[in-house]
Amino acid sequence: HVERSKEIQAARLKLPILGEEQVIMETINENSIIILTGETGSGKTTQVPQFLYEAGYAEKKLIGITEPRRVAAISMSKRVATEMNLGTDVVSYLIRFEGNVTNKTKIKFMTDGVLLKELENDFTLTKYSVIILDEAHERSVYTDILVGLLSRIVLLREKRNDPLKLIIMSATLRVEDFTKNKKLFKNVPPVLSVETRQFPVTIHFNKHTFDNYEEEAYKKAVKIHRKLPEGGILIFLTGQHEVNNLVRKLRKAFPYHRTDETNTEKTKESSDAHYSDSEDGDEMDMKKAIQNSKKAKKKLRSMLSLPQISLDNYKLPTDDTDADLLDDSSIKDDDSDSDSEEEDNLSFVDLKSSQPMWVLPLYSLLPSDKQSRVFEKPPEGARLCVVSTNVAETSLTIPNIKYVIDSGRVKTRLYDKVTGVSSFVVTFTSKAGANQRAGRAGRTAPGYCYRLYSSAVYENEFDDITVPDIQKKPVDDLMLQMKCMGIDKVINFPFPSPPDLVQLQTAEYKLKLLGALEAVESSKSDKLTKVTPLGQAISAFPVAPRFGKMLALSHQQSLLPYTVCMVAALSVQEVLIEVSQEQTNEKKSKWLPTRIKWAGAGNSLLLGDPFVLLRAVGESEYAGSEGKLKEFCETNGLRPKAVAEIRKLRVQLTNEINLSLNDVGLCVDPKMVPPTDHQAKLLRQILLAGMGDQVAKKISDDEMKDSDDRQRFKYGYRSPEMEEPVFMHASSVLRKSKPEWVIYQEIFETDLKNGASKKMCMRG
Ligand code: ADP
Ligand code: MG
Repeated sequence: HVERSKEIQAARLKLPILGEEQVIMETINENSIIILTGETGSGKTTQVPQFLYEAGYAEKKLIGITEPRRVAAISMSKRVATEMNLGTDVVSYLIRFEGNVTNKTKIKFMTDGVLLKELENDFTLTKYSVIILDEAHERSVYTDILVGLLSRIVLLREKRNDPLKLIIMSATLRVEDFTKNKKLFKNVPPVLSVETRQFPVTIHFNKHTFDNYEEEAYKKAVKIHRKLPEGGILIFLTGQHEVNNLVRKLRKAFPYHRTDETNTEKTKESSDAHYSDSEDGDEMDMKKAIQNSKKAKKKLRSMLSLPQISLDNYKLPTDDTDADLLDDSSIKDDDSDSDSEEEDNLSFVDLKSSQPMWVLPLYSLLPSDKQSRVFEKPPEGARLCVVSTNVAETSLTIPNIKYVIDSGRVKTRLYDKVTGVSSFVVTFTSKAGANQRAGRAGRTAPGYCYRLYSSAVYENEFDDITVPDIQKKPVDDLMLQMKCMGIDKVINFPFPSPPDLVQLQTAEYKLKLLGALEAVESSKSDKLTKVTPLGQAISAFPVAPRFGKMLALSHQQSLLPYTVCMVAALSVQEVLIEVSQEQTNEKKSKWLPTRIKWAGAGNSLLLGDPFVLLRAVGESEYAGSEGKLKEFCETNGLRPKAVAEIRKLRVQLTNEINLSLNDVGLCVDPKMVPPTDHQAKLLRQILLAGMGDQVAKKISDDEMKDSDDRQRFKYGYRSPEMEEPVFMHASSVLRKSKPEWVIYQEIFETDLKNGASKKMCMRG
């Protein structure tokens, strides 16, 4: 029996899904698999688990709900606990590094990755009576695989007379991928849709599509706030950095000052809260992660004697352009420095009389208590304005939004086909995405959506729908994980949208080269492969398999701190500011001398550009621990953002290794001494072990038959992947010594100026 408060009960009754409870529960009782669709905000995530609980599904086993985003797993578990008047020990969540699951837990929210890991140990999910795969329309790789796996697990559990229910929940997008796929479901599961009350949303396109959408978004928000009636504003940008910047600008333009009137206590509290989010979200997460994990706690004690970066004190540049991570700390500065704030406001002539704005950021890495502020009522007299990444597109529903400002952009991770190294790029979202965003405005009353792009761009340049992740990424890492779970013929796996055959074959071939997979010696010889013990070790690391192999090998040689640093540095793009290819005269580059100095001599020189990276990171961290990171980066040609990213990745890898390997007591040491000559030699072997498929050999004189060849092949290398000769990039410290054999991180085509022809270049 659930006892809900009056307010909660009233709020629930407004949700369209409440009227459908009986139909939904009857369909679930009669079918093992159902698909439930409904617009964002209709109550799927918060209500269905409660329906199941009240129908007795949690009496003997758990109700499990997966979310593609950590944000949703945490905040939804909290919301459901509150609605049901139950503790977080009963309605709990589990994400990587963090969670509050107990042995009393009945309803468990988790990320899809967490459930996939659980499957490795308990393939039929015996602890659960129901699994809800939420946000299936997001088409995250893990959710896609879970759909495929669960379609079979449900059958297994049926045979055992211990039925497991599967509920696939999604917005009303592309349900056909699940229903029209005969390989996935022989019998099409019933599809229920929840009708949502949607008020009309008036859409305004911009005449032009500007590149500086951040600036446009700011202007639009100012305009709406000054000219248009009451109602919350929701702004979609692409990333944490942009979000924080705009939040700061808007807070400055329409400051909210605490009033010292009647309920001082409360106002003070909320006002403090307003300005207290100075920590970078990620670091908060890491800190929490360390605190929450029991194992890590133990480890922490043994690590305390070792030098560590203080997570509280670490300073990054905080000027407008580069304050990527700590932007909110400058919000704090603005607050304390109210004189200059006053002055700035003078330029907004009619602002004095203007209403304050209650501006809140929203992005995945924001700590969950800060995220949940978007659900609270803004202070009396202030207008709510939420600046968000696309987490507000479908994962979280913010009450009372009337105006949506849509940049039309989204940040996605693109993978380098050659190296598998990923980078983030900003692109246009899809039409479906843009329409979801617009829909956020019409939940409680008619709304307005301002698109910061033209209708022509929308029509011609936006894709209809977003391609599922599984068809965009290299699948090496997925292939390995599936093989680790005993899925031998990945090609036959019932994916909702299968990756193409070439993608799968490339992955298998690369994993064999790495030694993570080996051919199964069987008479039928279906060219089957299975995971090797090395492959098992590799799959434990959250990086590309080639980097996982490097980490696995360095544990043997006690080189982990260096490899962690090197892998982190190699995984981040453009750490060192580029020495361009045209600057063939080496004197022209002002960075090169430092790089050559960092490259050192002997074995370290033979470790080439990765060693330069290792030194660069080492030296910049050292400078950072002395508070001089910014100057250091400027003088030595490093991108401060990249340094910050590398550091995050180092912290993450270090924590993960400490969790999975006992007694290594690894820490992120800002004052790491450079490796010795002998260590550099071992690191070179490790690098080769991970990148053995990317080797090139200098073209020998024998190969050059005439002067024409000599012209073309001079200083050239042969790589098995290329027909053309490849050349060393100008930024490489090995350009002078030109070793007989090299390993490269990537090959790309350059555009040479002065009419010269294109060249294939090796970098890293
Ligand atoms: P769906 O999963 O269909 O998108 P949800 O169950 O997430 O819908 O949300 C239903 C309603 O509950 C929404 O209107 C949302 O605003 C409200 N809601 C969700 N979480 C919270 C919260 N933490 N505080 C207040 N309201 C919330
Ligand atoms: Mg939902």
